[in-house]
Amino acid sequence: MSTVLQLRGLSCGYHTHKVVQALDLHLKAGDIGCLLGPSGCGKTTTLRAIAGFEPILTGEIELAGEVISRPGFTLAPEKRRIGMVFQDYALFPHLNVAQNVAFGIRQQQDAERITQDLLELVKLGHLAKRYPHELSGGQQQRVALARALAPSPQLLLLDEPFSNLDGELRRRLSHEVREILKARGTSAILVTHDQEEAFAVSDHVGVFKSGHLEQWDTPFNLYHEPLTPFVASFIGQGYFIRGQLRSPDTVQTELGEIRGNRAYTWAQGSAVDVLLRPDDIVADESSALKARIVGKTFLGAATLYRLQLPTGTQLESIFPSHADHLPGDEVGIRIAADHLVAFPAQGSVAAQISLGESSGVRRVSSD
Ligand code: ADP
Ligand code: MG
Repeated sequence: MSTVLQLRGLSCGYHTHKVVQALDLHLKAGDIGCLLGPSGCGKTTTLRAIAGFEPILTGEIELAGEVISRPGFTLAPEKRRIGMVFQDYALFPHLNVAQNVAFGIRQQQDAERITQDLLELVKLGHLAKRYPHELSGGQQQRVALARALAPSPQLLLLDEPFSNLDGELRRRLSHEVREILKARGTSAILVTHDQEEAFAVSDHVGVFKSGHLEQWDTPFNLYHEPLTPFVASFIGQGYFIRGQLRSPDTVQTELGEIRGNRAYTWAQGSAVDVLLRPDDIVADESSALKARIVGKTFLGAATLYRLQLPTGTQLESIFPSHADHLPGDEVGIRIAADHLVAFPAQGSVAAQISLGESSGVRRVSSD
């Protein structure tokens, strides 16, 4: 697969204030990437630089093999084959649905056919003559998507496209958008602060923290093999428990020895924090390891329990909901974590050493 977008050592921002620093990522043609992070971390700034609305301070941006931005050079937005979809739809209020979609099509003789096809694709064929104010939010966002796709962009950028929509519609539209982009083979970068949305739509997700990309990876790897404590706590739920590294792949904790499929390079005996997700802890009546239930949230198919160990350490765990436990009950538990995720404990020697490296981890399993 060829690369559609490549960012190399990209820094950008406003005046000389760098908002985004040393960003590297590449997107394969036909893939959907996502920039995920809390508000204010630089996601929109990065998209605006890719679209050509902001000059860049260092590095370069390459689209389909052509450099479109480098310091001192910014190819004009209209000369980049990049489409954009915004949070507030930004439709032309005085144009109807079909006219909005046809707006950016260059080959006018094909405009009608392209518009018709796209409206079918986004399931709005029957509303072609309506005006934006006569549509729901979800319908307006579908028009915006069709309009952005009409000129056949090499890359589509979507900035928080679902955040004006509510829960159920938001979920449905995010799945639809993925199907539409995949059906057309359109490469895209989505920006969101919502992890569920990022995972529903994207092949690769980049977790942003204050203008730095902490990890660019598949949703599976971000969840099971986070490379930094920030990614570990930003993605999914989980608790850290303190442990001691016994061997590269084994940590001694109050839950016993936990052995995983990763090898750590810190010295034997190093203090580490081990990440335990709710699905890493399973109920096991025959286990000698006991925990007390101190909280409970019914989720439907499963129940999320907050557990307390004899030492006072708390964890969360998901059990199938047919076995109903009450707060105060004692339950047997077992650790089922093949993905052993550990970080040097704050302030430990391993933490000091790790500061110099990006991470002390080697993956044992292949990617
Ligand atoms: P996000 O999209 O992740 O919420 P932004 O990229 O919009 O974040 O903003 C990142 C940082 O850049 C913020 O600190 C914000 O205040 C700053 N910023 C955004 N736009 C401008 C601007 N036009 N001029 C100066 N600073 C800006
Ligand atoms: Mg933003």
